Amino acid sequence: MKRQSVVAKKKFGQNFLKDESVLRKIVEAMPKNENKIVEIGPGLGDLTKFLVDVKSVEAFEVDTDLCKLLQDTFKKEIDTKRLHLNCGDVLQAWQTTLIDEPYDLVANLPYYIATNIILKALADPMCKSILVMVQLEVAEKFCAVAGEKVFGSLGIITQSVGTAKIIVKVPPTAFDPQPKIDSAVFLIEKSADRSDKDFEDMLRVAFTQPRKTLMKNLSAKYEKSRLQEAFSELELTLTIRPHQVSTKDYHQLYKII
Ligand code: SAM
Repeated sequence: MKRQSVVAKKKFGQNFLKDESVLRKIVEAMPKNENKIVEIGPGLGDLTKFLVDVKSVEAFEVDTDLCKLLQDTFKKEIDTKRLHLNCGDVLQAWQTTLIDEPYDLVANLPYYIATNIILKALADPMCKSILVMVQLEVAEKFCAVAGEKVFGSLGIITQSVGTAKIIVKVPPTAFDPQPKIDSAVFLIEKSADRSDKDFEDMLRVAFTQPRKTLMKNLSAKYEKSRLQEAFSELELTLTIRPHQVSTKDYHQLYKII
């Protein structure tokens, strides 16, 4: 099957990456180690071609038409076990871990489930790093630091398990069909796993109304006198906004309250 004969399916978030310079930047940014690569949504296989050149790949593709195409394109790699292709919804396949050996996630993600996939990978003890293309706005949230307007739960969760940085911003023209929004590739290198549900519950309360003060948001769930003690201990002003507090202070606050 030729690329031209493939009609992209909107419902699966299919925007195929055709700019080879971006594909090369993704491969260059991959952590250098012995881990397997997991690719979610290989699509037409443009990124997969680069990945199987470097390492063994475990891929998950939901679209049965694309799965057939990939089985033809990568017959040799599948026969030699360089590529293992799972046809089906990755979210259905994902238990506590997605595969049972250490892996690095490398993917141009389907945007409609990108945040969900990244949060699952952050919690997956087998996942060691995440190098993904997503909507620029989403990448900025994961990579944000305290003080930035977009700093929120996603940035705090990420900083609690490792480090994150934007690798390259990508315009719509890099894709076929072109999305309406800008995209970015970013990398999270993990040193721990996301695990503390109560901490994340506190973050949800802290950012309920991002423009209100942190004290006002937290008072909805936590005892005010306890909060006042904690704020004074951490030298946080009563007017501080949720995005102005560092990840370290959020962890201290959690311990105290
Ligand atoms: N990797 C290709 C590229 O860079 O050109 C395609 C990327 S496209 C943005 C997203 C891919 O994810 C599509 O191939 C789509 O069919 C696949 N996909 C969407 N939802 C999925 C799911 N739940 N499980 C597995 N793959 C999915």
